[in-house]
Amino acid sequence: MNSSQDNSIKEAIKLIEKSGEIYICSHVKPDGDNIGSLLALAMAMKKLNKNVKVLKVDEIPSDYMFLPNVDIIREYELKEKIELFIALDSGDIERLGLGKKFALNAENIINIDHHVTNTKFGNINIVSPSSAATGELVYELIKQMSVKIDMDIATCLYTAISTDTGSFMYSNTSHLTHLIVAELLKTGIDVGEININLYQKRTMERTKLFIDALNNLEIYLDGRIGLIAVTDEMLKSNNAKTEDSEGIVSFIRDIDTVEVACLLKEISKNEIKVSLRSKKEIDVSKISNKFNGGGHIRAAGCTLYTELDDAKKLILDEIEMAFR
Ligand code: 5GP
Ligand code: MN
Repeated sequence: MNSSQDNSIKEAIKLIEKSGEIYICSHVKPDGDNIGSLLALAMAMKKLNKNVKVLKVDEIPSDYMFLPNVDIIREYELKEKIELFIALDSGDIERLGLGKKFALNAENIINIDHHVTNTKFGNINIVSPSSAATGELVYELIKQMSVKIDMDIATCLYTAISTDTGSFMYSNTSHLTHLIVAELLKTGIDVGEININLYQKRTMERTKLFIDALNNLEIYLDGRIGLIAVTDEMLKSNNAKTEDSEGIVSFIRDIDTVEVACLLKEISKNEIKVSLRSKKEIDVSKISNKFNGGGHIRAAGCTLYTELDDAKKLILDEIEMAFR
């Protein structure tokens, strides 16, 4: 945390303290950092007797339904005037989906995020690309708000940080990550149980989708690029949902020769969601930026509005270019 980030945290706390009603929201296609950070900050602000509204902008993957108070994330009707809006883990305002309209009606926006591609769309921006997860920034904010971190908040923050670091495996994991997690463990949370919920509850449908997807692995550039396309047909035949493709892209990345892993998900005939991962050389956030997406150096994504075969060509060309 540098001094300007620290100042932003202090300004954010002043704003939170003087606001009665606060809307908080994260990005579409939610992940563990998104949902964990949302719930933790919402619970902390409720302890300060704030009227907190946690806006649901997309379906919550079943992986995270074990989190405490997950049902406080729900739909709200759009209000003309919003006092304070807090965006979490969202690189740009478009990522908020229907939350964007709420943000635009807000007198003040606090933008808390760790994506390198963040556009700083808030009045106050707590943006730290060196943080492994938004959950780390939320931890710092809650501590400075002088709210006691209880087991429920700790469970949510642990989930946020564990999922965004690939269980503390990725290079974004810092000594600070471990110090924060050590503090979270002091609350007495059951890490074994949380990890079973997060990583050892794969359904048979998801497992079969995995097998099917891996049978369709494509390799380019002497094995340095691995690619899989998950078609709508594949989902249907395995009785799986789009969220069940979670984990396939990291499995591709883990092949020894692979530097860049690419997963294409057919959301509809002309909408292809792309996930990119890299191991140690290629900055995939730059690749997804070319298609109006974003993310981190080692994990990024974008959406291509064209047919699957065309999307594959477009993204492969850009990936191959990045190796030159
Ligand atoms: P995933 O591949 O797991 O969907 O996303 C990897 C990372 O890239 C996440 O940090 C996610 O927030 C970011 N990301 C994925 N898709 C997009 C996108 O379309 N736009 C932006 N700005 N970021 C994205
Ligand atoms: Mn994140």
